[in-house]
Amino acid sequence: MRKTSYGFLVTIAVLVRCMAQTPAHPRSVAITIDDGPAVNEMKDLGNFQRIARGLLSSLEAEKVPATIFINERQINVQGQRDGRAAVLAMWLDAGYDLANHTYSHPSANKASLREFEDDIVRGDVIMRPLMEERGRKMVWFRYPFLDSGMTQEVHQSIMDFLEEHHYRVAHVTVDYKDYSFAGVYSRLVRAGDAATADRVKQAYLDQIDPGFERSEQASQEILGYELPQILLIHCNELNSVTLRDSIARMRKRGYTFVTLEEATKDPAYSRADTFVGSGGSWLERTARAMGKKISTPSPRMPQWITDLPRPAR
Ligand SMILES: [Zn+2]
Repeated sequence: MRKTSYGFLVTIAVLVRCMAQTPAHPRSVAITIDDGPAVNEMKDLGNFQRIARGLLSSLEAEKVPATIFINERQINVQGQRDGRAAVLAMWLDAGYDLANHTYSHPSANKASLREFEDDIVRGDVIMRPLMEERGRKMVWFRYPFLDSGMTQEVHQSIMDFLEEHHYRVAHVTVDYKDYSFAGVYSRLVRAGDAATADRVKQAYLDQIDPGFERSEQASQEILGYELPQILLIHCNELNSVTLRDSIARMRKRGYTFVTLEEATKDPAYSRADTFVGSGGSWLERTARAMGKKISTPSPRMPQWITDLPRPAR
């Protein structure tokens, strides 16, 4: 009898411990991929298609939702417009959401208000009919460089303009600067240095854990819980070959994958955005609005990659 009670107590203790370790908010993340369909591929249609297909096939294989933010300037290449627009249709027919990231990727902190608004309008000319003929709606907009105006007046004017055009702003909470690795990676691949390119690829994958950890800790510090994260990465060659491995790392941290719509149901995303300045993730914006500090610095790219010789111009 005594033995049984002891066993019972141990079971209760284990159960209590398990419950304590299960977060009240299970981890979730919405993947968003900017500068689509394929950044810096304005000449070669084959590369453009290959990168887009690499991203799409990775997401499909992992059965993970994602929103792709498009710069339509990339479609307007003479002699390739049909081939490039077909990539947009490919994303839509596979069930993925496309979104407006402006036509030509200007910074709202540098362009005039009129220029910036014009770039938003030009940003969905090709996509919108493709979406609508499939019974879908344009919903999301993301600021290039996350810049949303240097003064409160400009910031408010842009937000009013987006609202009039029925756009919602897609925020970002996890950003481990994939583009800084991607540029070096593509350069090495083009130069035929597969060994160093592979080391950069590994270093990039190793950036994912500290990148998420920073956002998880920041969210705890600011909100007292982990909000559904919104990851920002870009439509580049590096992600087209690593996305499945990246997703595996996120799964290992306990993440499930949700749409932008689902993630933003969390009340942390309904706060009015009053941020003025350069860039800034939603966590950084929220911290500033609440007068709080994020103690963990952003992970840095390893020095050996920064020190790699740059090609002669
Ligand atoms: Zn961008």
